[in-house]
Amino acid sequence: MITFTDVTKSYGATRVLGPVSGTIPDGGVTSLVGPNGAGKSTLLMILGRLLDPTTGSATVGGLDVATAPRRDLARTLAILRQDNHLTARLRVEDLVAFGRFPHSGGRLTPEDTDHVDRALEFLDLLPYRRRFLDQLSGGQRQRAFVAMTIAQDTDHLLLDEPLNNLDMAHAASMMRLVRRAADELGKTVVMVVHDINVAAAYSDRIVALRDGRIVADGTPAQIMDPTVLGDVFGLRIAVHDLDGDLVALHHTGVPLSAVS
Ligand code: ADP
Repeated sequence: MITFTDVTKSYGATRVLGPVSGTIPDGGVTSLVGPNGAGKSTLLMILGRLLDPTTGSATVGGLDVATAPRRDLARTLAILRQDNHLTARLRVEDLVAFGRFPHSGGRLTPEDTDHVDRALEFLDLLPYRRRFLDQLSGGQRQRAFVAMTIAQDTDHLLLDEPLNNLDMAHAASMMRLVRRAADELGKTVVMVVHDINVAAAYSDRIVALRDGRIVADGTPAQIMDPTVLGDVFGLRIAVHDLDGDLVALHHTGVPLSAVS
């Protein structure tokens, strides 16, 4: 379970998040959606201890994010950040092996190697395992970073825009992987997703932020509603039911303020 209580984040006098509070129970896929700058990444980074909140607290798997020993937290929570500035000339398999560090402390056991191999296979990366990161396409590199978080083998997975740089086929396969992680392995997945249709198709729950606040929280069926989506994105958005799949049409992007 993940909890966050009265969390805020400010830079100088500018508050960019909160106060927000919430609970994400064990299991399932929760997507954070909302316009650019709504505070989605900020909230995810705070849950993953990559960013300190200005006020408030968070727990993951019963551990206080602010005070838990780093290694304990890394055994229960893996996080994919949006901008991975790894300049080291690193091979894919070595990057993925970093995910085992909280377990192995740097000396890989056969079990660690198994996890690395499985993560590479999951992400369709076996042919590239000996490549250096700078010899990969953006999508392959993105998959390598996801493989690292999968190899970490934690109960909680936080993913910030895991579909960045992925083509349609790899985006769909990434989302199926996320579903399997929740359904078959019982993991609790929280991810920032740009595309509301992807969020609706693959999530159990959608939490929508706008201007640093949670403005909607519910099942995809509850969120995929023109009024709710209009409130969240400030756009006129039509929702269509295509054989049971709710699809939002927003490509014309007409701001609500322009609609009489
Ligand atoms: P989202 O993920 O929803 O696009 P973010 O959480 O990345 O939004 O950002 C929320 C707001 O915080 C944005 O307005 C952004 O400009 C601001 N912000 C993020 N990092 C900093 C920083 N280091 N200094 C000042 N403002 C920041």
